[in-house]
Amino acid sequence: MKEFFQAVFQFLRENGVKTVASWSVSAGVQMQKQLLREGYRVSGIIDQVGGLSTSLKQYCIRQRIPFFSIRGIHDLDHAEDSVNFLYRGGHDISTPEDFDALFKKVAPFLTKKMKTWGTPESRPLKDIDFILDAGHTGSSLDANAFRNIKESDLTFELASLVNKECLSKKKILLTRSGQPSWEDPLETLKRRQAILTKADRVRALSLHFNASPRIERSKNLSSAFVPWEANSQDIDFARKLIRELTAINLPGKESYPEFTEQIINKLEPGIFSRKLALLKKRSAATVLLESAYYDDEQEYSRLSNRQWMVEEGLWQRPRLKQIATAICSALKN
Ligand SMILES: [Zn+2]
Repeated sequence: MKEFFQAVFQFLRENGVKTVASWSVSAGVQMQKQLLREGYRVSGIIDQVGGLSTSLKQYCIRQRIPFFSIRGIHDLDHAEDSVNFLYRGGHDISTPEDFDALFKKVAPFLTKKMKTWGTPESRPLKDIDFILDAGHTGSSLDANAFRNIKESDLTFELASLVNKECLSKKKILLTRSGQPSWEDPLETLKRRQAILTKADRVRALSLHFNASPRIERSKNLSSAFVPWEANSQDIDFARKLIRELTAINLPGKESYPEFTEQIINKLEPGIFSRKLALLKKRSAATVLLESAYYDDEQEYSRLSNRQWMVEEGLWQRPRLKQIATAICSALKN
């Protein structure tokens, strides 16, 4: 698959093709997911009888990739809540009328203005104002893996919300291309590191959710980590984040246990410098934010709460919306 995508996109690039809508027919949603996992940000996705595409659709909504789905009315394996084009019959379209109707329906989707396709690596750095990194991937080490909610899912959703709420007008680079569970953790970490190093002059924020030692379970705090050789920009950025999170009941953590203090250095309440792969010294401000302690019972129940957003057509966590708003206030001020 990797080689197949490379060959196809190299051909498209060489021929100056700017918009690419990936239209899969009976190939299964896995093929589309694989494409996104490899880091190809396509202009649009059309999924035709690809199996249950709910997660693919939710991903596309969050990443603002136009999505169109096509199904046969009797293709029960693929029964779903909302489909953009339903035709009579089962798996295959077999009548000329249905083909006609399909092309009429899909034409406005294909002819509307779409973004240029690309990969995180292919994007020129002059086109980036801000780097937003959603911490972790599906199977990578997770502070709270014992819980049902994965840290990687929370960070991915939070990054999408921050992007939508206050960065949509900026040229933003999201370091993670796919839904957490589709990604290869090692490859993704390497890619994220490479982007941060290459875009040395662009402000960067990495999002995380922390776990606390058992003894502190009842406390719900936040921490901002800056590079070991932090400069005043890093600290200023961290300070704003902690101030806004404190306002929504996530005050800055005072200290860490002694064994941790050997690898981190406390600068002020809630702000620590730390030696981490993603916190190499950079020219622009860099902060790794642990936005909440989700092993805190109260916080966990807040984070567990999801509501169906009719307009957006997806599930959203109100608590993440609140955290996203706090982060946006910090970014504005
Ligand atoms: Zn983390």
